[in-house]
Amino acid sequence: MLIFKKVADLQGWLNNERTSGRSIGFAPTMGALHDGHLDLVRMAKRECDRAVVSIFVNPTQFNDSKDLEKYPRTPENDVALLLTVDCDALFMPPVEEVYPPGRDFTIQLDFRQLDKVMEGVFRPGHFEGMATVVNRLLDIVLPHRLYMGQKDFQQLSIVRDMLRQLNSNIELVMCPTRREADGLAMSSRNMRLTPDMRAAAPAIHQTLQWAKEAFQTLPAASVQAQAMEKLTAAGLKPEYFDIVDGISLLPVPKWADSDFIVACVAAFAGDVRLIDNLVFK
Ligand code: AMP
Repeated sequence: MLIFKKVADLQGWLNNERTSGRSIGFAPTMGALHDGHLDLVRMAKRECDRAVVSIFVNPTQFNDSKDLEKYPRTPENDVALLLTVDCDALFMPPVEEVYPPGRDFTIQLDFRQLDKVMEGVFRPGHFEGMATVVNRLLDIVLPHRLYMGQKDFQQLSIVRDMLRQLNSNIELVMCPTRREADGLAMSSRNMRLTPDMRAAAPAIHQTLQWAKEAFQTLPAASVQAQAMEKLTAAGLKPEYFDIVDGISLLPVPKWADSDFIVACVAAFAGDVRLIDNLVFK
């Protein structure tokens, strides 16, 4: 696996791969890799000639500076994991390579309600930072396919909308959420859970599964209120539990009101903020 720290070096290699007719699959990450990330690479390896991963803890998408400081960093382990899935290239740039001083890469698109609901309410500015870094990384890598996880469902909806607005030819591929045996969605943040909170956290997936059944007979308002109670009873601090349309992310009041329904949740487990979702329909 080639490891690049500089944009120019990565682009030199990529240009050669592209002119040789090889397709490029790209998975952007913030490191502290786990099997969910490796699934993105596995899928990219199956569908493309070359798989490229970036590890960049993007300062512009953290609205809380403590959250940025506490974000786990495990570079040696990340390299070892990427070798197990035969990743072709790893891009690990310092901040000044991605954001050279004196240049403004901020992308200001109108995502309508997509970036205003759910995470948008609790993490102001987060999606502008996310869209900016994804757009910047795509400009650097110019992949044929972009691999992202369903785990961050709202992020995926916004990136899909961004590619549409930019008339991009890049194909967005959604990879299913990889879970621990007890249902907890894999996340880099899980390593920061205390034993008590690690034991409580599977309640998130259990509550999503309960809600999928309940929503077939009860209105969203009642399911959401009961779900928040269940999460609180499990020792978590839920921020939202929303049942939304899978494309517009607007609320779906009843089961029959949409053909694509997703429930999205964010909850604190101690001081670790976890998100998850489940497609109902
Ligand atoms: P992150 O490093 O958390 O920013 O995630 C990088 C990419 O990996 C994003 O596209 C995530 O949606 C994806 N990802 C994170 N966790 C999982 C998971 N448990 N299963 C599948 N994909 C994931």
